[in-house]
Amino acid sequence: MLKENSPNHIKERDSRQCEQNLKNILEIWKGISLNDFQQGVLQTKESFIQKWEESLLKTITLQTNISESTELTGDILCRACGYLLGKLDKVRQYENAHFISDHDFYNRIEEKLFNQPQTYARSSDIGKALCGSKNCRTQLGCIKKLNDYPEISPIYPLKCASIKIKSETGEMILKKKWSQMPFKFPKLSKNVDINNDDDIFYDASDSLPGDS
Ligand SMILES: [Zn+2]
Repeated sequence: MLKENSPNHIKERDSRQCEQNLKNILEIWKGISLNDFQQGVLQTKESFIQKWEESLLKTITLQTNISESTELTGDILCRACGYLLGKLDKVRQYENAHFISDHDFYNRIEEKLFNQPQTYARSSDIGKALCGSKNCRTQLGCIKKLNDYPEISPIYPLKCASIKIKSETGEMILKKKWSQMPFKFPKLSKNVDINNDDDIFYDASDSLPGDS
């Protein structure tokens, strides 16, 4: 005989309850027609495939958008020291942020991560990117994780005032804001509505405590 509330008693009571639940489920199961069951499985399968196809298409579109070269020719240099950061045809735009989508770029900068990331509605700043040239180390921009694009995060948005563009004719283009640049950069998403030409994005990063 088992004592009330003893561990063994509780264990036995739970296992009886479990058995009863299982019986109930089996009764419900028996009541479902084979046709309904097959229909349900088919619908679930179709919706899974559809979701999978949609996400695959989204990823492929994004990868194409991010890796394709554009007609733009020129170099992006650190404004302070002239160090080459990347090619103009690899610049991509996400909202007000402009970044170089090229693996070689990551070797040309130095990352300085924040102890505490700055979180915004759809992104978070996790650190800052400095010029990779040994004697320069000027801050070029921030390191940003995009909630909508985990596949390509983080990106390294560049402050327009920290870079200059050397066109194919050798002309140096220096602007304060990206919106003043005489180029149209491919946007990361066609659905993004750009209605703000101000680089508020950078101002927010600029005013971070500890920024120098
Ligand atoms: Zn530099």
